[in-house]
Amino acid sequence: MNKHQLLKKYYGYDFFREGQEEAIDNILNGIDTFGIMPTGAGKSICFQIPALMLKGITIVISPLISLMKDQVGALNQMGIHAAYLNSSLTYNQYLKALENAKKGQYKIIYVAPERLMSEEFVDFSRKVEISMISIDEVHCVSQWGQDFRPSYLKILDFIKKMPVRPIISAFTATATKDVREDVVKILALQQPKIIMTGFDRKNLFFSVKAPRDKEATILEYLESNLDKSGIIYCQTRKEVEAIHELLLKKGYPVTRYHAGLSDMERKQNQDDFIFDLKPLMVASNAFGMGIDKSNVRFVIHYNMPKNMESYYQEAGRAGRDGETSQCILLYSGKDVVTNQFFIDHNKDNDELTDEMLELVRNRDRERLRKMTFYCFTTECLRDYMLRYFGEKGNHYCGNCSNCLTQFKEEDVTEISKSIVQCIETTGQRFGMTLIADVIHGSKSARIVQLKLDHTLGYASQSDISVARIKQVINHLLLEEYIKLTDDEYPVLKLLDKSRRMMSGENLIVMKLPKEVERVTKPKAKARFSFSNNRSYENHNLFELLRMKRMDIAREEKIPPYIVFADKTLIEMCQHMPANKNEMLNINGVGEIKYEKYGVKFLQVIEDFK
Ligand code: ADP
Ligand code: ZN
Repeated sequence: MNKHQLLKKYYGYDFFREGQEEAIDNILNGIDTFGIMPTGAGKSICFQIPALMLKGITIVISPLISLMKDQVGALNQMGIHAAYLNSSLTYNQYLKALENAKKGQYKIIYVAPERLMSEEFVDFSRKVEISMISIDEVHCVSQWGQDFRPSYLKILDFIKKMPVRPIISAFTATATKDVREDVVKILALQQPKIIMTGFDRKNLFFSVKAPRDKEATILEYLESNLDKSGIIYCQTRKEVEAIHELLLKKGYPVTRYHAGLSDMERKQNQDDFIFDLKPLMVASNAFGMGIDKSNVRFVIHYNMPKNMESYYQEAGRAGRDGETSQCILLYSGKDVVTNQFFIDHNKDNDELTDEMLELVRNRDRERLRKMTFYCFTTECLRDYMLRYFGEKGNHYCGNCSNCLTQFKEEDVTEISKSIVQCIETTGQRFGMTLIADVIHGSKSARIVQLKLDHTLGYASQSDISVARIKQVINHLLLEEYIKLTDDEYPVLKLLDKSRRMMSGENLIVMKLPKEVERVTKPKAKARFSFSNNRSYENHNLFELLRMKRMDIAREEKIPPYIVFADKTLIEMCQHMPANKNEMLNINGVGEIKYEKYGVKFLQVIEDFK
């Protein structure tokens, strides 16, 4: 079978998406391939289809047990024999799986990186023909990435142990230039073909808010987005608990997820969310890796995450089905402090030397700074994000809160001068809050204790709020008049540009949002809402199909989206297939899935007519 036939037969799709065909062709021509494609772009197909066409076995290296389980589950559902080898198997199950693999039962085998160098696995890999090694989430190999895993460094050792070097393919959704270079170098890819499709997820609306009352903001949002599925990310367990409690009290179908819950409860809550029994999830960043729930309509960040990589990854869990979805970040100054604390006390990685650890911390601080700027920029948010990931944006996307906000330009030269002067006269020894307090003329204990209330320039801008002074400080940071040091307690330092400002006459102009926003909420489509699919024509049929899907999912103990995606059900409503051929023409209905479920869904449509 050729690649098009495989795409149709197993996955039920008619066309390849951007980048997929190119990746498949390169791999089949024996060329190492490195695909950098955003979440939801369809990376799996890039290595799964060639895996089916190559003579031997494909080994897929993947960092997370949940991710492997999900993918192997989906493959077996489609009729492709696959297995995984990781620590969730008992030793006997592991040996049994290897034995089956030796007999050629699986075309695709998922392996955790730390298993690669085990004696049994090395022995196995020498006895069978391995055509390709495919590495998922390959940014984990790089210390520049946000998720460095030393076990990924063993991959090259493993490749070197093999009698014949297989084709290497590697994939990730986030790779800045440094990471890309690292991947090629560390894995010793041979003249690899690098495939980059855009990072931009056009269906996502990005927005940053700095509300006084975050809880009220969330409640207000949920009220106008009833019945939609969404994730609310919080920074700490305590906050997860508090928001979860709040939403429960208000009667929302909500569940929670963080590292402090038992394995069993986490699994249960995750399933409730995935199965749409509880479509709202309040979670820490421990939640989400490997979760491929396609109908998540919004991701709200209750706190600012530690870097853009994490933010884009977490926010990107919205709208995997390509439908309009919202990503909202609720910022407060406290988030910066909390993240700073996490960075300074990060001991996650006990494999690192002190020197390495300090290097990693410095990079983390730099990343935190860029994340903070995201919350303060008045430019297009999408543009900022794309530039961060090394792509060119459009300056105006029309689909982010900044593009939809009217700004007025304000002359902040006087405040800026006060700030610079204050930093200078206090000896460049203090952080943002203290400097803002001095200029505003606060009488806090710290200020009195340090006798800063006697300093020149104290209360020089007493009629300007502390919040506004901080906004201007952020602007000066963004424009590189001043900088923050990398220390545990970062302090403000002057850069050359600030001296030029003090001596020159140039104005500092800052864009500030006008009181009234032009559009605050773009009207979201209600197609996927849970009980009232208002704009959906045949909404009753859609509900019936969903119910059938839920029955099957419960019976087979798999998530509904593994049976069929929402998109596939919607197409069924639109085309109302009446027989096998018509059903096979629906996107997402492959032959194997037709055999399993086709008749059941045809029956629902027939009964509805
Ligand atoms: P990624 O790993 O890049 O985040 P996945 O491989 O999980 O993305 O694919 C995301 C979704 O897109 C899945 O539901 C998948 O079935 C679907 N998909 C992938 N390729 C195609 C295609 N060519 N046509 C339609 N849907 C596709
Ligand atoms: Zn924009």
